[in-house]
Amino acid sequence: MKFPKEVNTYCPFCRHHEVHKVKVASKGKARTLAVGNRAHNRSLEGHGGKRAGEKTVKKQGKRQKLMLECSKCKKKHEKVLSGRTNKKVELKS
Ligand SMILES: [Zn+2]
Repeated sequence: MKFPKEVNTYCPFCRHHEVHKVKVASKGKARTLAVGNRAHNRSLEGHGGKRAGEKTVKKQGKRQKLMLECSKCKKKHEKVLSGRTNKKVELKS
């Protein structure tokens, strides 16, 4: 999917439409010692049963995420594109 490098869209901080720079958002690293991660790993021990967070159905694709940076206030917010694809977003000039 192609997406423009700059879009004029709503900025929740300025409460106004502003020109935004677009970047493909990358997922941050999960902290292995966080409380939730440790609790989840504890639940995976043992002999099975139902486990929260384990999916039986695999989706055909993922929803792509973009990071928008406002040109006026320089703050960032995310935009999740509708529709699932296996292809990554291409930023066209
Ligand atoms: Zn702004």
